[in-house]
Amino acid sequence: MRNSARIWEYVEARKGPLIALSDAVWAVPELNFGEFRSVALHDAALEQAGFRVTRDVAGLPTAIMGEAGDGGPVIAFLGEYDALPGLSQEAGAMAHRPLSGDGNGHACGHNLLGSASLLAAVALKDWLAETGMPGRVRYYGCPAEEGGAGKGFMVRAGVFDDVDVAISWHPFAFATVFPPAALANMRMDFTFTGRSAHAAAAPHLGRSALDAAELMNVGVNYLREHMLPSSRIHYAYQDAGGTAPNVVQSRVVIRYTVRAAELDDMLALAARVRKVAEGAALMTETRMDCAVVSGMANLLPNPPLEAAMQANLERLGPPPFDSADRAFAREMQETFTPEDIVAAFRQVGLPPTSDMTLCDVVLPYPSPAGPILLGSTDVGDVSWTVPTVQALGATCAIGTALHSWQMTAQGKSSVAHKGMVHVAKVMAATAVDVLSDPELLARARRDHAARLAECPYVSPMPPDLVPPVMRQSS
Ligand SMILES: [Zn+2]
Repeated sequence: MRNSARIWEYVEARKGPLIALSDAVWAVPELNFGEFRSVALHDAALEQAGFRVTRDVAGLPTAIMGEAGDGGPVIAFLGEYDALPGLSQEAGAMAHRPLSGDGNGHACGHNLLGSASLLAAVALKDWLAETGMPGRVRYYGCPAEEGGAGKGFMVRAGVFDDVDVAISWHPFAFATVFPPAALANMRMDFTFTGRSAHAAAAPHLGRSALDAAELMNVGVNYLREHMLPSSRIHYAYQDAGGTAPNVVQSRVVIRYTVRAAELDDMLALAARVRKVAEGAALMTETRMDCAVVSGMANLLPNPPLEAAMQANLERLGPPPFDSADRAFAREMQETFTPEDIVAAFRQVGLPPTSDMTLCDVVLPYPSPAGPILLGSTDVGDVSWTVPTVQALGATCAIGTALHSWQMTAQGKSSVAHKGMVHVAKVMAATAVDVLSDPELLARARRDHAARLAECPYVSPMPPDLVPPVMRQSS
């Protein structure tokens, strides 16, 4: 029996409590650094499974680490459990139906993300105990992936420094290797301060912070023509200066996200956006203050680990969806546009077909269609610290958009549960390969070292940036 077949038995044997954990986290959707109930559920699951638990990792009250095993290489499974605002939704409903409450919802599937990573860790713990192999398995519960860059703070605190390989995943419509194509990004809050005045009686005495913000947006929109095509810039008003048009707005806060494929290009583009903001302040005689809110590096590839993960996926085959799952997915697809579904197939290089509602194939890797681009992830900073590989797990109907009510609606479905167990098998088997094959680990390390030699890591977060959860106490 191959090692992979044995580890898959452990995943199957252990899946029940971890599926229950995912459903429990789905029911308490919490935001950036506020994941107190979610981390408590993970804490209990780690204790139950016999891990040595470290709390308040990196000084973050919603970060946790559990370890098992002795000596040998250290394998880290990374989990997340934060939700999104405004995306509450009744489970299984085929129409937009928010639940009563704070409006938060698990529209990125992070309830599944943490639970499947912990399932892989529990299975690997069993495998280490059975084989007596030297090696340690860790589960890192990482807060605030959605814009808080929780892992960036954990990297800065050195919590991954003695890890040999990090493994993670993300929910998606197809099961495949996560291509290392996430963008480096930085979030910055620009605060413009002017002088309020009566907009009709004394407009000449006012200095408008809102004018400054709008001129900044115009300037940045011109800047778009002169940046790399893969770069992205978007903004949202945090404080538009009030609701009264007869007052010259004296204070406006606007948040910008700047993204680029490479870390150094992103840092350069962020500096140009800042110059536009300085120009807007000069034009309007307002003051501009810029505060970096978070920063994430791009993902560093690791072809040896990606090849090992793909081989496991090919051995395992697609997730075992049944006719009831397919009927559920077809009904969910009725809520998408035809373009959503066509785009989802094209994104992974498959011809669009109405015959497939769920992932019934193993995609080739690397994809002939080019890498799937999925925005940014704070796993990027981990990937610059240790050799890292990620999977995409098939947890939803083809055409489902991340950050949509449909994603929240599918988060407790049979499809989601099968997808999380499937991806836990892919991750755990890849960990077994690393522990059983010293040459694979050596190749992964060599690849990582060569990339860092070519371009050293610079944290995109300024040294004085403190996570908001620690700001109150400092
Ligand atoms: Zn996500």
